[in-house]
Amino acid sequence: MLTSSLGQRTPARAPRPGAGHGSAWPAHLLLAFIVASLVALVTVPVAADRYMRPLRDEMRTLAEPGRGLMTEIHVALALQASALHDFGDTRDEQYLRRYRQAAVREQRAGELLAPIAARLGPSTTARLAEYREMEAYWHASVDRFLERAGGGGAAGEDPLRGELYDDLLVAAAQLDEAIHQEAQLRRGRILEAERAAWWSMVALSAIALLALAAVAWIGGRLRAFAAEADRRRHEAEELMESRGRLMRGISHDLKNPLNAIDGHAELLEDEVVGPLTPRQRTSVERMRRSVRSMLRLIDDLLELYRIDAGHLELHRQRVDVRGIAADLVEEYRAMARGAGHRVELVESNGLPPVMTDPERVRQVLGNLLSNAVKYTPPGGRIIVRTERRTLQREQEGADALAVDVIDTGPGIAGDKQEEIFHEFSRLSPDEHPGAGLGLAISRRIARQLGGDITVASEPGRGSRFTLWLTLAPAEHRRQSRAAPDGRAR
Ligand code: ADP
Repeated sequence: MLTSSLGQRTPARAPRPGAGHGSAWPAHLLLAFIVASLVALVTVPVAADRYMRPLRDEMRTLAEPGRGLMTEIHVALALQASALHDFGDTRDEQYLRRYRQAAVREQRAGELLAPIAARLGPSTTARLAEYREMEAYWHASVDRFLERAGGGGAAGEDPLRGELYDDLLVAAAQLDEAIHQEAQLRRGRILEAERAAWWSMVALSAIALLALAAVAWIGGRLRAFAAEADRRRHEAEELMESRGRLMRGISHDLKNPLNAIDGHAELLEDEVVGPLTPRQRTSVERMRRSVRSMLRLIDDLLELYRIDAGHLELHRQRVDVRGIAADLVEEYRAMARGAGHRVELVESNGLPPVMTDPERVRQVLGNLLSNAVKYTPPGGRIIVRTERRTLQREQEGADALAVDVIDTGPGIAGDKQEEIFHEFSRLSPDEHPGAGLGLAISRRIARQLGGDITVASEPGRGSRFTLWLTLAPAEHRRQSRAAPDGRAR
């Protein structure tokens, strides 16, 4: 059974579980998505422009001038034909000059076309070569015709009468068509790129809008969760508050009359109101024992409430835990002897002081020791041992001071070793007095002190309860200079 102190000291509230934590990765993912979409919205048009600029340049500097030069060639060919025709009819030299001017224009246009055709592609180069070949035939044929005409003979074969001129026109038209096709090809590519850029902009905008909608939705959900959590916390606080009022009421309305009963029973026991027969004395003593046990139970319930509500007050200071263990062994020695037990103290030298609350350590160790005395059958042996060990918690080990309370009592089955730390849990309720609150309170206190209580036991082979008090890093360093050794008392 555990008795408690009811001081009004600074509360040591346990941190609210989960406070300040939360999984934010979906929000981060969405944010990354939106940013990526926005970046893409800017970069896609730039990339499309980069792709289209050379095509547009080719349109501007090759295809369009190429078509212009072709028009020039067509016009020059028409002028040549008309001048030759007029010369054939009139033999007037001025038509001959016109023919030559037109031929020069045509040849200059053909020369200017050569680099353009080469850059437009192999099909235009091939067509230009065909055309230039036909053109050479044409001019050679015209020259022959003019030579004969100039020699004063018969006019000879008119080059316009044969198929040569038509073939030249066809070759020019085919060259024109090849340039047109190259221009069309580039125009098509530009259109495709423009279309792809437009569709990707539409898709990216839609994605960004969807992501924004998702962010808004998640934000709404998070706000709803936060509001729900707030509401639940508020409810829990109200519940604790009403439980606190209930406990204060119990404390006042139950403890006062019980104390009054105990006081009157004490007067009876002291025979202030008259002498008692032996049977009456036994009844009064039983009455007092029951009343005191009820008062202790009320104190334990209040203590449990105080810890659960985060109102446990801790007064930390540098504490010599070995000294506390030694004092307690002396305190319980008489009680243990009365039950026929031997009590031993085993301690290591050079143990460091621990930053902890000495009253709470005393309270917890006292509970373990009184349990050992209570549950061990007469003639048992109880050892209190203090030493430095590592407390294994989760994945890590913490350097700690361990105080073992070892007994040769009935032991505790493996499946019950956690259960005994639950409130009102008792393994043999009829054999010993108690309420089943001592270990529950002790473990809560030990954990609030930064340590724990563990049990190692086997039925029929006794138990070892250990109070762990973790050491601060500064204490580790100080202690590392001292060499531990063990001695028994
Ligand atoms: P209480 O002693 O008031 O019953 P505790 O919480 O201190 O409450 O103990 C809970 C139960 O754990 C006890 O009822 C008992 O069955 C078991 N127990 C505690 N200490 C020992 C021990 N040293 N040896 C065997 N059983 C024990």
